[in-house]
Amino acid sequence: MKLSELMSIVTTRHKADESLLSVIQKIAEKHYSCALVCEYDKPIGIITERDVVRLFATNGLKEGMTAGDAMSRDPICVDGDTTILEALDLCESRNLRHLLVMDKTHRLVGVVTQTDMVKAHVKNYEHHDKLQDQNHRLHLLSIEDPLTGLPNRRAMEIDIKHAAAVSKRQSQPYSIALIDIDYFKKYNDSYGHRAGDEALIFLAEKLRKNLRNSDKIFRYGGEEFLFLMPMTSAQGAKIATQQICDTVAQEKYPHKPSDLGFLTVSIGYAASYSENWEMVVEQADLALYDAKIGGRNQICSAEEPGVTEFWDLSRKVDEGQPFIN
Ligand code: GH3
Ligand code: MG
Ligand code: MG
Repeated sequence: MKLSELMSIVTTRHKADESLLSVIQKIAEKHYSCALVCEYDKPIGIITERDVVRLFATNGLKEGMTAGDAMSRDPICVDGDTTILEALDLCESRNLRHLLVMDKTHRLVGVVTQTDMVKAHVKNYEHHDKLQDQNHRLHLLSIEDPLTGLPNRRAMEIDIKHAAAVSKRQSQPYSIALIDIDYFKKYNDSYGHRAGDEALIFLAEKLRKNLRNSDKIFRYGGEEFLFLMPMTSAQGAKIATQQICDTVAQEKYPHKPSDLGFLTVSIGYAASYSENWEMVVEQADLALYDAKIGGRNQICSAEEPGVTEFWDLSRKVDEGQPFIN
């Protein structure tokens, strides 16, 4: 913000030989914070409220005194393009309370007080804070699923890419699992969509609470969640996903029209070193399909029979090869 946006011209102008008393009267009458002493329209001095108070306090006010006797000479003039911060610095270093603002032709166009500048600066700051807060909220909205509060697919992409890159660097696989609620359409049909939403919120919370520190869970879409396990082999993923499957079933969240009478999930997982993470998700999806076919409420891996035999560490960065422990 620049001074030209802030200044006002609310001050009075006087000649140096004018009676000081009449200048003081004018300041008091109009509630100005200063008066300017000019010579042919050029400011040669300034009398501020502070100057007046000091004169009264020290008995320095004498009969017959003129504006020229009391003024501070050569007031500091600045360009309208000066920023508030620059102007505040100047006030601070020169112990000034007022700055005169000039235009390009050195014509006086306004007066600005230190108090005005501080107020504008604080307001600017608050505005900036508010903007930052809004940006933060917008950022969250763009990466957070509004129903469950879990990170959404956008956040997921960023995190998976990162996990895949770390995997490649560290020669350690990462695993991805897709978790899908069993017979969720029936749940909605039976209990209503709103109850369905509540079940999703419940499950999301359950999943979030059961995470290891390094793992992450995302709402993948509808009644599906994606579970990212950085630096985790297929064997580790097997243990983690089985635990999730069991934890959900143990809740016995009522779901009458399902096979078991309570909410269950099916999970497909895949482990890989590949930076082609979309393909790893596809593999997990295929494995999820197998888990559904296999009877639901179970986990299934993307391991392909026979892959283990061909696996050797030199092929760690092979694109797309599911990792088998
Ligand atoms: P399966 O065991 O094979 O996964 O069967 P399913 O019924 O769960 O699968 P399907 O894909 O046929 O149905 C998914 C259902 O999930 C349908 C849809 O109404 C419901 N669903 C998806 N997103 C939401 C949501 O945000 N809220 C609610 N209440 N329901 C949702
Ligand atoms: Mg589904
Ligand atoms: Mg389902």
